[in-house]
Amino acid sequence: MSSTDRVIPKTLTIAGVDPSGGAGVLADVKAMSALGAYACGVIAALTAQSTTGVTGVLPIEPAFVAQQIDTLFADVKIDAVKIGMLGRSNVIETVADRLQHWKPVHIVLDPVMIAKSGDALLEKSAIGAMREALIPGVTMLTPNLPEAGVLLDQRPVETVKEMRRVAERLREAMNHNGHRWVFLKGGHLPGNMAIDLLHDGGQMIEMASPRIETKNTHGTGCTLSAALAALLPQTRDVPEAARQAKAYLTEAIRQADTLHVGEGHGPVHH
Ligand code: PLP
Repeated sequence: MSSTDRVIPKTLTIAGVDPSGGAGVLADVKAMSALGAYACGVIAALTAQSTTGVTGVLPIEPAFVAQQIDTLFADVKIDAVKIGMLGRSNVIETVADRLQHWKPVHIVLDPVMIAKSGDALLEKSAIGAMREALIPGVTMLTPNLPEAGVLLDQRPVETVKEMRRVAERLREAMNHNGHRWVFLKGGHLPGNMAIDLLHDGGQMIEMASPRIETKNTHGTGCTLSAALAALLPQTRDVPEAARQAKAYLTEAIRQADTLHVGEGHGPVHH
């Protein structure tokens, strides 16, 4: 196949907007575009935000989130979806319902709960909806360790051995039909390596990369899940897509200090 024959996958982010461009839909579009995918975006929430914090969140009406999804899917064959900040339980239930209807092959869920600044991006009452309505139907779940702790209602773990058990428990919470994966991000563990686990109920793949010291880590979770959505349809091999997505994020973190955006937690550099 010549390069002109290559089919460019169409990927969709359903997430919130961070006007500073470090996280949310804007970060997702950068990662998807850089990785050879075409990016579409459905807006689930607006935030007023800079690198120093979130000063406001404006949820989008669930019916209008549904209308954005339905209008887009009726026209465009979406190859992979990444879900980020949804904010509220009624938006979570709506997104779950519309994706069940349209059935895209890949659905990557980044269960966004708090911003790097520490501000809440998910209402506490919405955790149940995420567990019950959304998680069972996704094909990949990408929590960090604090998010995994909240989802499983247990304290965040402190060792890679404990991480393995968490990955297994999260996989059990997903639908048992079909091939589904947990990408558990271990960046919160101490140590000079950032260790992630990829688990499908059988294989447990450990991926390690050197830890990069920087305060500019805004948008790391968004970037990884968007990279996965871009790469899954292109590699057609989940462990390979995961390795490439992690390598892309590691390089974006390595380049973060070449940018100077704001005085708080600045963005990674795509
Ligand atoms: N989504 C939105 C809209 C955000 O504003 C943020 C953080 O500020 C996130 C997601 C999560 O960001 P991160 O990738 O740094 O976890």
